[in-house]
Amino acid sequence: MSDQTGDLLKATKAGDLRAFAKLLSALEREGPAALKRHPELLRPPSMAFRFGITGPPGAGKSTLIGRLIGLLRAQGLRVGVIAVDPSSPFTRGAILGDRIRYTEHFGDSGVFIRSLGSRGSLGGLSSSAYLMVRAFDLAGFDIVLLETVGVGQTELEIMNVADDVAVTLVPESGDSIQGMKAGLLEIANLFLVNKGDRPGADVFVRELEAALHLDPRAPAKGIPIMKISALTGDGIDALVARLVSMSKEQGTWRSRRSDLERVRNEAKSLLRTEAERSISETVSHLQSLEDFASLFK
Ligand code: GDP
Repeated sequence: MSDQTGDLLKATKAGDLRAFAKLLSALEREGPAALKRHPELLRPPSMAFRFGITGPPGAGKSTLIGRLIGLLRAQGLRVGVIAVDPSSPFTRGAILGDRIRYTEHFGDSGVFIRSLGSRGSLGGLSSSAYLMVRAFDLAGFDIVLLETVGVGQTELEIMNVADDVAVTLVPESGDSIQGMKAGLLEIANLFLVNKGDRPGADVFVRELEAALHLDPRAPAKGIPIMKISALTGDGIDALVARLVSMSKEQGTWRSRRSDLERVRNEAKSLLRTEAERSISETVSHLQSLEDFASLFK
């Protein structure tokens, strides 16, 4: 299998998108062992900027991504999307529906969308996502949008590999800061208040500002807030400007990405996945109480 993966890696580097699609599946099957077999995954010639978008279902993440794809393409950037979201329209198959206009990007080799949601165990999702972002690097994408629902350990773990993380909130989310899951605030580099077209959006932004300012957690204070509307497009230009400028500042996020703490976090997550896999495998071979007892030498 690894030889085949090697061939797919080569073809991907040469710009073959069909090979790239197969490569993603191959990496998913192969798991983290692929990193050792194919060291170019660790140090690709170029790297995509990774923008993480997390937030509750219904916050408008997919609508936002649809809009970002078009605007980033207009800037000449090649855009990848990895949606790790069981509720995402990508995963639900609504991608062909008209609710979200990704269809306009079909046939554009500068856009590639991959969803992860129905496959794999919880831990497996993050390990697949980790490997896939590296494949997007090799395929020469400029930016990868990484979408997850902002709940659960896996989603937070996936955001460890993003260079910039936006937590998406909506005016209706009310007491979002006080009720915010531990960990979410720590990973946020940016808050997007989406549905800015709705009444109450400005009040919500002010409440969020105040809450962040008062929050005892140190990172809270400096996190910028952008009010946007994925529906009307208001405020999105500023977000695109941020992404374009950050994607050009390679040095900063390149060094951030090899930051030991981040590498360790990623390793922790991958090792956990491997351990879970090995536990399931061992347990599946259990036939008797004696087998059970013999596990503990
Ligand atoms: P996701 O679950 O976070 O991906 O959310 P979706 O993108 O599927 O959006 C959920 C619903 O909110 C859909 O009906 C969208 O049309 C709507 N929506 C998304 N963005 C906006 C917005 O900026 N304003 C308003 N009013 N509705 C929006």
